[in-house]
Amino acid sequence: MTSIRGAITVEANTSEAILDASKELLCEIIAANGSKNGLRLDQIIDITFSATKDLDAVYPAAAARAMGITEAGLFCVQEMDVSNSLPKCIRIMAHVDIPEKKQSDMVHIYLRGADVLRPDLAKKKLAVAIDGPSGAGKSTIAKEVSAAAGIIYIDTGAMYRAVALHNIIAGTDIKDKEAVEKSLNHISIDIQHDDKKKQRLILNNSDVTEDLRTQKVAEGSSIVASYPAVRQKLVTLQQDLAKKYSVVMDGRDIGTVVLPHAQVKIYLDASLKERVHRRIHELELKGEPAEYDSVLQAIESRDERDMNRTHSPLLRAKDAHYIHSDGMTINEIANEILKEIQKI
Ligand code: C5P
Repeated sequence: MTSIRGAITVEANTSEAILDASKELLCEIIAANGSKNGLRLDQIIDITFSATKDLDAVYPAAAARAMGITEAGLFCVQEMDVSNSLPKCIRIMAHVDIPEKKQSDMVHIYLRGADVLRPDLAKKKLAVAIDGPSGAGKSTIAKEVSAAAGIIYIDTGAMYRAVALHNIIAGTDIKDKEAVEKSLNHISIDIQHDDKKKQRLILNNSDVTEDLRTQKVAEGSSIVASYPAVRQKLVTLQQDLAKKYSVVMDGRDIGTVVLPHAQVKIYLDASLKERVHRRIHELELKGEPAEYDSVLQAIESRDERDMNRTHSPLLRAKDAHYIHSDGMTINEIANEILKEIQKI
């Protein structure tokens, strides 16, 4: 038997807010633990909920019952009223039975500011931020580094691509900022990892990973990425992932906005010519015809939008380690980054 802990703060002392927060915390605990599809409900032995004194509108355990956790023992207690403790906070301790896992494999979850309760857990997380322009090879390198460092890889570009894909399928004009921002109410994005640790992007419960890497989606993604509400939603999602896991995260604003405190920041660059050749090679491997001029134009227009937009443009963080990758092999670049990780 092992135990999983977690905590979340609640906006208000109402039944709805308490149940929503308890459900969110339980869902995150279930998704982050267990095997491929998360923790099975029958693996939960018991859950103890504790709530601070300022939360008494409903028992948080009611959320577990509503989620179908009916076999496990559920127990609610009130926290000691220690002065200056985090207000409106619910904590969980769950005992679980996952035969193939050890206590050290358990992922504890602290959400919405409750991570201040466990600075030791928060500190242990490693964050490697890799930024750079389109086609610089960020994802290839990030995958190598994540495999070598044994931490997960988060491709943030896929999230912007998912927002574009949703709108393309819905027939929305991507250039209509208001319509795209409204569409966010109907978009849920979830990141999972398959058996080979490859990221899968789940858009509204469907795995759309294979639909994201078309030219139309790439172009759309750099347009929707300039809209503040889109960035706000996705940056929060990315920051929450980095609170839970040690990550290698790649994108345009990771070292500057998403994870400004990342222990390792890399700016991966390459000449325009090299980036065009790499993208043509990537397309050819997929059996897609690629003409130099059209690939050049697509990369140039994405560079222009990504570097000159008002909100979170592509920037090299002041403390980023700069790598100009022309003429370097994948191994050489990955090793240079691994050396930076070893320095911390
Ligand atoms: O990296 P990728 O080409 O998949 O990213 C698609 C688009 O998403 C980029 O052109 C960029 O406009 C946007 N993006 C971003 N911030 C990130 C990652 C991607 O604006 N962190």
